[in-house]
Amino acid sequence: MDCAVKIDNLSKLYGKKEALSNIDLKVEKGEMFGIIGPDGAGKSTLYKIMATLLLPDSGKASIFGLDTVRDYRKLREKIGYMPERFSLYQDLTVAENLNFFASLFGVKIKDSYDLIAPVFSQLEKFPNRKAGALSGGMKQKLALSCALIHRPAILLLDEPTTGVDAISRNEFWEMLSKLRERDITILVSTSYMDEANRCERIAMINKGRILEVGTPQNLVSRIGENLFNAVGENMFRLLSELRVMPEIEDCYTFGSTLHIVAKKGFNPARAKLELEEKGLKGISIYPAKGDIEDLFIKLTRNEEM
Ligand code: ADP
Ligand code: MG
Repeated sequence: MDCAVKIDNLSKLYGKKEALSNIDLKVEKGEMFGIIGPDGAGKSTLYKIMATLLLPDSGKASIFGLDTVRDYRKLREKIGYMPERFSLYQDLTVAENLNFFASLFGVKIKDSYDLIAPVFSQLEKFPNRKAGALSGGMKQKLALSCALIHRPAILLLDEPTTGVDAISRNEFWEMLSKLRERDITILVSTSYMDEANRCERIAMINKGRILEVGTPQNLVSRIGENLFNAVGENMFRLLSELRVMPEIEDCYTFGSTLHIVAKKGFNPARAKLELEEKGLKGISIYPAKGDIEDLFIKLTRNEEM
């Protein structure tokens, strides 16, 4: 399989703060790949390095075999980068922004029109509106159109849906699926767990480290292997009792139930008896289906320890 992105042992420090720590990552050509992690995880730092805008302290990153440091000029033609937060010129109109990006890359809008049409069509109704006056969802569509204007082979999208309403978020992901069908490799970061399921593979990142890589389904089924639901009359007491049981690794509130991450040898029937002996009532403990959220809780907790 062809590698689109290859990152080897990459680290980046800001002063003494290590924003990225020994990152290894491979993304295949044509993949829709998600970088999932909370605020401060290191997502934007990784994007800036891939977009050739920031130098790593050690290790290397290459895209389509081009090194982000050595070959940055050639590489910039191949990547469409959408930084986090709105990056366009707020005082320029929709049309002016698009023209600006086209001239920056020395291309004509009409030559890329087939590619941007599904994204741009909704903006065509108001070419003279200032970018700053657009809604959040429309701003993102304009930014994506601008990132596509030079027909990049890979899109680097850093939290494109943050602060965008739910309907526009959904539309945005549908547009990405269409672009994916046109063989564009897409690397998209998000801190919304539900969006992880939209990706073919994801990397979970926290505190500058990649914690897991795989399909969302694989990662979720792996966590589901030792996961249980627990309910009882007094949920708060139940939570505190479960947390101190030696066969339980972690326990946390999950919707209207508790989720137990069990160690080997955990016996739900025995745990129920123990809890009843302590006076807890209405206890029920049964296997739970894992969720991407469970994975995330596990990974972030492990890091704290
Ligand atoms: P994310 O995009 O996942 O929120 P960032 O890459 O922006 O993460 O940040 C990773 C870490 O590096 C955070 O702890 C952040 O505070 C720190 N950081 C980011 N940019 C700078 C900077 N320019 N100077 C110092 N620290 C920074
Ligand atoms: Mg960021």
